[in-house]
Amino acid sequence: ASTWAGVPAGPPDPILGVTEAFKANTSPKKINLGVGAYRDEAGKPYILPSVKKAEELLAGKNDKEYLPITGLSDFTSLAAKLAYGADSALLKDGRIAVTQSISGTGALRIGGAFFERHYPGPKVIYLPTPTWGNHIPIFRDSGIEVRRYRYFTPGEGVGLDWKGAVEDLKNAQEGAIVLLHACAHNPTGIDPTQEQWKELSEVVKSKKLFPFFDMAYQGFASGDTTRDAFAPRYFVEQGHQIALCQSFAKNMGLYGERVGAFSLTTESKEEKARVDSQLKIIIRPLYSNPPVHGARIAATILNDPKLNAQWESEVKGMAERIIEMRSVLYEKLTNELKTPGDWSHIKSQIGMFSFTGLSPAQTKALAEKAHIYMTADGRISMAGLNSHNVGYFAESVDKAVR
Ligand code: PLP
Repeated sequence: ASTWAGVPAGPPDPILGVTEAFKANTSPKKINLGVGAYRDEAGKPYILPSVKKAEELLAGKNDKEYLPITGLSDFTSLAAKLAYGADSALLKDGRIAVTQSISGTGALRIGGAFFERHYPGPKVIYLPTPTWGNHIPIFRDSGIEVRRYRYFTPGEGVGLDWKGAVEDLKNAQEGAIVLLHACAHNPTGIDPTQEQWKELSEVVKSKKLFPFFDMAYQGFASGDTTRDAFAPRYFVEQGHQIALCQSFAKNMGLYGERVGAFSLTTESKEEKARVDSQLKIIIRPLYSNPPVHGARIAATILNDPKLNAQWESEVKGMAERIIEMRSVLYEKLTNELKTPGDWSHIKSQIGMFSFTGLSPAQTKALAEKAHIYMTADGRISMAGLNSHNVGYFAESVDKAVR
């Protein structure tokens, strides 16, 4: 018998599985609202003009040598500046330990490994319910116990379950880790208000929780990278030490280039150096050093004031197209089709996703009858909608819910 005869078949990835089903469908009407990748008005993948420009500037100038273990230092310092702010005191003091990572997922996984090895408190992380599906196995595989806090309760209005979140965090194990989506919460599209972040900071402080931020969508929520960085910057200002995961997949459209960063704030330069040394010890046996091309693109954009301004306006353009689609979809369902139900959440939610409230049975019917694909929890990627298909989508939803 084969050595692997006893290996059981695992379930398909719930999100990438949607893409597989979409690809297999031959209908010209098909729409993929599963995966969280931006699409332009023609439904095509979008290469940002600032990225094209950066690639032109880089063409023929670089060798293919290895990067250091923690990546391209120009990139990591510019990524930290983007996240923490150009005027960050921590940055000026050289107190942020930062490493390049294999996009946001890799940042989370390095973070998981670092906390498993060095976090002195309980190795327990509280994740919001719901959260990005990959958070659970990332922390579990890192050897961190996963627990949950309420964030959104289906059927109970369209907002954040604020009371539930605060209650659960107040009852959390003292000194544990808490994962916070810095902006554009995936999958709900619902973020705390700035006032709620302030209250959250107090709750986190009172329970001595360690705030672990996942910022995969800086710029994508409001269209403004500074505004979207409010939460981690506020927590730092309030004296919290934080962990921060960054991804340039969405905001620079560098999905497959795998560009990200993981950082920890420290008490002193000397402490930063010790943390840096341990990050290297974790990364070296994992993948040795990160890929170089995407980091060069991101660094080129962030380093050149003109190109940076262009990029910021392109991020804003992507965010605005999504916001426009929200309002068109809302209008069609509510005013044109008079679809049963309250659809105001489509407009109030932010970022790439909308939690439609469609049931698993309705999402299945949409796939089978209308060739429209989304995750079974009713989450749609707003970026998959455009002026050509939003009408058909609205009519199909209308039929599915009647
Ligand atoms: N975190 C959240 C909340 C996400 O939604 C995603 C991507 O969908 C990621 C992290 C990581 O993505 P990537 O590894 O492509 O940067």
